[in-house]
Amino acid sequence: MIGACLAVAVVLLIVVGLWQIGKARCFVLVGDVVCHVATERPYVALTFDDGPTTYGVDAILPVLAEHRARATFFLIGAEMEKRLALVRRIVRSGHEIGNHSFDHRLMIRRSMGYYRDQITRTDDLIRRAGGTPGLFRPPNGKKLIGLPLVLREQHHELIMWNVEDPRTNDPAVFTRQIVNEARPGSIILVHAMYRANGTARAALPAILDGLEAKGLRVVTVSELIAAREVGER
Ligand SMILES: [Zn+2]
Repeated sequence: MIGACLAVAVVLLIVVGLWQIGKARCFVLVGDVVCHVATERPYVALTFDDGPTTYGVDAILPVLAEHRARATFFLIGAEMEKRLALVRRIVRSGHEIGNHSFDHRLMIRRSMGYYRDQITRTDDLIRRAGGTPGLFRPPNGKKLIGLPLVLREQHHELIMWNVEDPRTNDPAVFTRQIVNEARPGSIILVHAMYRANGTARAALPAILDGLEAKGLRVVTVSELIAAREVGER
């Protein structure tokens, strides 16, 4: 009886442990993950997940242009396919497109073929829109072993984040938290594409003002990685 209880406890511990590892921002079991970049330069990357949606892009692009900020958009393949002209607009405005899977389903406990298919189909759309594939962010930030292995095989960087949009309806609180946490090398995650993300859209001008006031310049994830100090990860 005690043995059976122990076995159940061990299995539970392993499941909970794997779940924690799967959602860890700065740790993977295999390969590499980038959640921030070690750099002395005053650079941060601003990343937008999901979409694209017309109203999201219409709200975000002018604000970025006004601040001469170049952001990275992790877009969903199925949504890019419906709105490829919108993706082209993002690329033409000087921003970077990252792969956020085709279906936005959890990418754990699936076959290697599933991961490859999700990545390849979305990369094709990034190329068709004029972008260059190479960055991947998993839906809900979840990854275990299979996905990192396929990303390594396909020469993609696994991009997470170290500053996250807070759960608040107050744009001032939203802004303050992001600006306070931002440091040189930070990768900031913001969700601003859907109807429910009005707070993020409202906060965006103040976030860019706040980053500027801290002397931080918003660059793409690739530019941030290129600014990495030699010998650092
Ligand atoms: Zn997402």
